[in-house]
Amino acid sequence: MIVDLHNHTKLCNHAEGEIEQYIQSAIKNNTRYFGFSDHAPMNFDPKYRMSFEQMSSYENDVLQAKEKYKDKIEILLGYEVDYLAGHMDERVLHVEKADYLIGSVHFLDGWGFDNPEFIGKYEDQDIDEIWQKYFDTIKEMADSKLFDIVGHLDLIKVFKYMPNKNIIEMAKESLKAIKKADMTLELNVAGYRKPIKEAYPSKELLNEAFKLEIPITFASDAHKPEQVGLFNNEIINLAKSVGYTQCVYYRNRKKNFINF
Ligand SMILES: [Zn+2]
Ligand SMILES: [Zn+2]
Repeated sequence: MIVDLHNHTKLCNHAEGEIEQYIQSAIKNNTRYFGFSDHAPMNFDPKYRMSFEQMSSYENDVLQAKEKYKDKIEILLGYEVDYLAGHMDERVLHVEKADYLIGSVHFLDGWGFDNPEFIGKYEDQDIDEIWQKYFDTIKEMADSKLFDIVGHLDLIKVFKYMPNKNIIEMAKESLKAIKKADMTLELNVAGYRKPIKEAYPSKELLNEAFKLEIPITFASDAHKPEQVGLFNNEIINLAKSVGYTQCVYYRNRKKNFINF
């Protein structure tokens, strides 16, 4: 991947490997712009993320690596931030050194729907309602205008509990909001590693995004160094198949376009 902006570090307690190992892996994969976007701290679900006190060491470690590898690759500093009403913190939303913030929805009313521990909850609710609530939350996230990139747009499909209603219909308002907020959509390969076995977003949603001229970027969403650049060909082909020829990276929270 020429641009790869969504990657984790062991600070989130569920990823492994050293920052330099991720970078070595990215260099091997011919990445030109490689971003770390570890899970930002919040006072909810603290077990799976760094603490507020660890933010400065995270930023310093990434910035030191940026300097060290500057002749080989450009390292960017980001955070993956949970959009969760009542739990978003100013210390995260206004990080001075951040090149970008990824906004992600991992919780619906406090339910961690992508965590296999809580998979049982899919059975006790109306599947169409779950999906609609998910996309309504994505719309709210875009409307908040707090973030640059939409993380894994259709994450709700992770365990393959598919809705009966039309997904494009359900996602329509959220896509419009993403366009209006001038956000970028990431093509995230983590879905290939999950039961759904396809990228986020699906080809049909990506096609809608293309029609709306929503820009894209690429994401390994690596939680191990060896996951960097996996499924590179699949994701590039997916982007090309709907018509994209350019992707985005961010510096200082400003978009830059590059051909891929
Ligand atoms: Zn993670
Ligand atoms: Zn995520």
